[in-house]
Amino acid sequence: MPDRLAEKLQEKLKTRLRYYEDLGIAEFFRDRVAPVHPIPLEGPGYPSSSAPALSEVSAPIVDAPTEPAATLFAEPFEPTHHITDVPKIGEGTLLTIREDIGDCIRCKLHKARTKIVFGDGHPHAKLLFIGEGPGRDEDLQGLPFVGRAGKLLTQMIEAMGLRRSDVYICNVVKCRPPDNRAPEKDEVAACSPFLFRQIDLVAPKVIVCLGSIAAQTILETTRGISQFRGQWLEFRGRKLMATYHPAYLLRNPAAKGEVWKDLQKVMGELGLEVKRPKPTQA
Ligand code: URA
Repeated sequence: MPDRLAEKLQEKLKTRLRYYEDLGIAEFFRDRVAPVHPIPLEGPGYPSSSAPALSEVSAPIVDAPTEPAATLFAEPFEPTHHITDVPKIGEGTLLTIREDIGDCIRCKLHKARTKIVFGDGHPHAKLLFIGEGPGRDEDLQGLPFVGRAGKLLTQMIEAMGLRRSDVYICNVVKCRPPDNRAPEKDEVAACSPFLFRQIDLVAPKVIVCLGSIAAQTILETTRGISQFRGQWLEFRGRKLMATYHPAYLLRNPAAKGEVWKDLQKVMGELGLEVKRPKPTQA
């Protein structure tokens, strides 16, 4: 008899399974042989403690959300990929940017903020997510994407076989717009130079814009996101993908499948394993 799963793990599994169900994934199989591909990290200043704890099972990946086939983690919360880069010397640091922001009063958003939400994650991640601006939870904690939408973003990252700490997450504006309204032009204009510096410094291979505000700011367009979502675009020589914001997905769960397709393209670009579904038995 297999050991009973600990209650906490059962809960986590349930949440994870519900998430895959939302994506249209209904069937799972388990790999019998566990591939292990440790990728040694080396380089000046790279913290050895950040070496990946690689999972012994392959990532849950499907080709398209409509095709119900996937491999589920036997131990579902371990990362299967490591995609951070070694830091380059002499480029300044994220800390410098944060110091330049200081106790910012460059726009009116400073009046109601609790904390500046600078950004979070690996300073040399190959994948960088950009959101719109902090919400209530983020304003209180000073960290991006920690509320309900943030939890969904974390699940999306984990579904890619990554840890949240392997990517970098930031926003167009660093202070919460009152009542969660969209940031206004002058606020974006005041804050976006810091975002551009963050992008340059992290130097990701792929940027994912979450929602129209992030995409329109970066791409300098007023076009609606649905016109270019899921297509490969470019920002300063880096690959850019715009997809729906997790908050939108909370209101429209049916759109999760589209986002999953976009994330699979991102995985392909990053060289992360994208598995084909096993042919189903007739
Ligand atoms: N929505 C965003 O766009 N950013 C956050 O940090 C949280 C919610």
